[in-house]
Amino acid sequence: MTAVTLKKGPSEVGEDTIAHLKPPVDPASLKHKQLLEGEFWRRIPAYAEVSEAEFLDHSWQSKHSITRIDKLLKALEGLVEDGFVRDAEIGFQRAPMSVRVSPYLLSLIDWKNPYVDPLRRQFIPLGSQLHPDHPKLGLDSLAEMADAPVPGLTHRYPDKALFLPLNTCPVYCRFCTRSYAVGIDTEEVEKVELRVSPERWAKAFRYISERPELEDIVISGGDAYNLRASQLLEIGEALLAMPNVRRMRFATKGPAVMPQKILSDQAWTDALTTIVEKGRKLHKEVVLHTHFNHPNEITSITERAMNLLFERGIVVRNQSVLQRGVNDTIETMRLLVKRLGHVNVHPYYVYVHDLVKGVEDLRTSLDTALTIEKHVRGSTAGFNTPTFVVDAPGGGGKRNAHSYEHYDRETGISVFTSPAVKADAYYLYFDPLHQLSPEVQKRWQSPVEQEAMIGAALEAAKRQRRS
Ligand code: SF4
Repeated sequence: MTAVTLKKGPSEVGEDTIAHLKPPVDPASLKHKQLLEGEFWRRIPAYAEVSEAEFLDHSWQSKHSITRIDKLLKALEGLVEDGFVRDAEIGFQRAPMSVRVSPYLLSLIDWKNPYVDPLRRQFIPLGSQLHPDHPKLGLDSLAEMADAPVPGLTHRYPDKALFLPLNTCPVYCRFCTRSYAVGIDTEEVEKVELRVSPERWAKAFRYISERPELEDIVISGGDAYNLRASQLLEIGEALLAMPNVRRMRFATKGPAVMPQKILSDQAWTDALTTIVEKGRKLHKEVVLHTHFNHPNEITSITERAMNLLFERGIVVRNQSVLQRGVNDTIETMRLLVKRLGHVNVHPYYVYVHDLVKGVEDLRTSLDTALTIEKHVRGSTAGFNTPTFVVDAPGGGGKRNAHSYEHYDRETGISVFTSPAVKADAYYLYFDPLHQLSPEVQKRWQSPVEQEAMIGAALEAAKRQRRS
């Protein structure tokens, strides 16, 4: 037998010496671990006298959330120039969403640079930054109502349903896909009625129980943060009692805009814990899905809230929306993903922005998503790497952004299929017009040209389709 001598690795140079393959990084460069702490809210004149105990109290946060445009603009007086206030006034007049902003959120905005601040962009529209809607954009772009056998219960995927028990949220986001129902009516949109209703809930529960194929229920809204503890228990227990239901996710933006609730609303957090533990005993998964979009939304308060959920064994996953000027750079998305991992939140999805009314300034092209995904993948562990998806307009469901059948970067049209949802259908996504060339933007002004471009894209997709 031949003796084999193993070559010494770099770590075996000497007994007391470890030869590093590459130098360790400077800890100061690990930005994802550097969370905002201290009494940061006091830099806002309206909160200068607010104590830590008050600011950490969810009731104080809710009570002082701003729900009227005039009050919001008043709170900004002295913080920003008059021109900015006028700009915001015009923005709100043209916005399809209602207003609701928490003091926590307002405190995280850099009011020295409000035009470019990524949180301001998500919640306060400015007339000067708005673009006309894409001609192919509709109010319920994901056709959730068309796939709803009971109002507020969408059954699209074979084994999953989306239950919308209420229509209110702790804040209102400009880019909300569900602006057709969420919040109160605005000058632009009369909302579909999805208030809390025992009769409507009972119908939804009955439908779910009568469908043996339904195993996975998303409870969204509106927002599960706005359910009372007793309502959380009622929904959780009703669904856990159904033999067909195996998985449940409560969806809330809350941790990103008011993490205080998890720390100070003991009844709510205990109710969630009860359902999670009950589910675990029944071998059913109950998790929380949340919605952070920018690393600045994760502070030391968030970390404490997420630590509490982690200690209680509650899994939290995140779904972000890719937005222009918010998180559409490789650096920001990498930082967001790493920071989410740092506070034990799994980055699950990044959505290419839906075709939502009044927010063309926030949409990016599909190409932006593909580029960012390429650079994010590999920067951390695979299980902490989000999948970039397009929620196919018209009801195709979520499609991996890379899975398009055809993508014409010049006209901005991408074509997707969704064999598990509808075998023969084609679904179209449209890049925002203002990012296309002036010649192509001109073509989009003509209905005849629109149909020609769409027809060409569909033909190409049919030729290129991977079965
Ligand atoms: S919290 Fe969610 S449902 Fe509510 S407005 Fe924002 S995106 Fe829409």
